[in-house]
Amino acid sequence: MYGADPWDRPTVYAPPRRQRGGYLLAAVAVLVAGGGAMALVAPDGDRLAAAPVAAPGPGSFAFVQEQLGTPVTYDPCEPIRYVVNDALAPAGGAGLLAEALATVSGATGLVFEDSGSTDEPADPDRPPRDVLRHGLGASPVLVAWTTPEQVPDLEGGVVGVAGSVAEGVGGSAMRYVSGTVYLDAADLAGILQRPDGADQVRAIITHELGHLVGLDHVDDPGELMYAQNVGRTELGPGDRQGLAALGSGSCG
Ligand SMILES: [Zn+2]
Repeated sequence: MYGADPWDRPTVYAPPRRQRGGYLLAAVAVLVAGGGAMALVAPDGDRLAAAPVAAPGPGSFAFVQEQLGTPVTYDPCEPIRYVVNDALAPAGGAGLLAEALATVSGATGLVFEDSGSTDEPADPDRPPRDVLRHGLGASPVLVAWTTPEQVPDLEGGVVGVAGSVAEGVGGSAMRYVSGTVYLDAADLAGILQRPDGADQVRAIITHELGHLVGLDHVDDPGELMYAQNVGRTELGPGDRQGLAALGSGSCG
């Protein structure tokens, strides 16, 4: 446990709507509190990994974006490609990232595909910039070990920020197509020096990957998606229900 520092907030990239040269930024977060059974969309046959099953139960989860009562998700029939800028990564960071990816993949049934390393710098405006350059979906998720100088949202006690960008498919339906995970390399290197540092950093990265695939914060310290770090290192029951829903979107 290392106190109740503010952790972060999810980076929310709006569905791109070309409006007077700008992008409308909006987010809808809906808290679904414990106990309620959730109707999951039946998975299509061509998904890359089995749809997760999470029994309804106690716990809290919330989605960054919803449409018509269902969460905006990645396509479970396509891999989530990602590249890593690890120039500033602390020793052991790559292994902890891999473990966090495996945890989120297991809880969602979404498949992450390593597209290699990159020297692309962290850029808070990356998705809107890429939309202007070559359209959505062309860029892999960027995971970058970086600094508050490059990503001002990492100033203070914030150790990571993450989010995804959605595009419209098939009319009004939205789907995540890319995103960013920015990790404060110096802060996390410091946490790694603590006796339970590896567990803490793995949990922080898992929390950020939760944002990437669409989980928002909840006001429940029993969940990893609680906004403050209170020493929790494993997914909570609500986290798992939310991740199962986010891995159960429709294909195509
Ligand atoms: Zn967060």
